[in-house]
Amino acid sequence: VTPETAPNRTEVRRADRDATDEAPEILVQGLVAHVGFVIEGQPYVIPFTYHFDPASPGKLYLHGSTKGRALEHFASGAPICVEVSLLDGLVYSKTAFFHSMNYRSAVCFGRARIVEDEAEKRAVFEKLIGRYFEGRTAPRDYTSPTAEHLSVTTLVRLTIENWSAKARRGGPNGPHDKDPDAPGSAGVLDLDRPKPA
Ligand SMILES: Cc1cc2nc3c(=O)[nH]c(=O)nc-3n(C[C@H](O)[C@H](O)[C@H](O)COP(=O)(O)OP(=O)(O)OC[C@H]3O[C@@H](n4cnc5c(N)ncnc54)[C@H](O)[C@@H]3O)c2cc1C
Repeated sequence: VTPETAPNRTEVRRADRDATDEAPEILVQGLVAHVGFVIEGQPYVIPFTYHFDPASPGKLYLHGSTKGRALEHFASGAPICVEVSLLDGLVYSKTAFFHSMNYRSAVCFGRARIVEDEAEKRAVFEKLIGRYFEGRTAPRDYTSPTAEHLSVTTLVRLTIENWSAKARRGGPNGPHDKDPDAPGSAGVLDLDRPKPA
């Protein structure tokens, strides 16, 4: 079995939570990518900043120091898995079992390669800053990377082979949550996504 043929690797078993058509929007809104990979049988999950553009939905960019082990591994073209989640609310119920979370999350599978082309590298870094800080542009708000900055930063382009997304929405599903006479309390604590400055 190769990673590409791993059985049902993107099949969401709980069909009512399947939100695969929302995967691009989740990647647009997300801030942190948790990247999973295996080196010599040891699984790692490491958090990263990332860039995703819905106009090119088959690609996701990660970057870091040329000295990083994770980046070096990604650049080798090894299979990796990227997860991004948005936490929308904390769901509380009158029944312990029905406490939950409202979320949207996406999982992408693929392999990455180094971006060598300096023009592409510069363009991605500029878009990445603009994704996190809407409206921030060079040279008005910051200076563009120098050749030295570029030389110590590895940028990799993940080719997304396939993805899945899941979502939970709505209030608690406990048997007594809609009964005002039942003891306890039930509801949703909405969590607003913090806006980048
Ligand atoms: C929100 C967020 C965004 C980030 N964005 C980026 C980014 O865009 N680019 C980037 O290069 N780095 C980023 N980092 C740092 C990143 O998570 C890694 O620490 C860094 O890339 C070095 O990884 P490595 O595996 O090469 O490090 P190594 O030092 O080789 O890792 C060795 C061990 O250190 C531990 N370790 C590594 N990273 C972490 C961590 N974050 N938390 C706890 N233990 C850790 C693990 O046990 C790992 O096995 C980010 C971190 C956070 C929390």
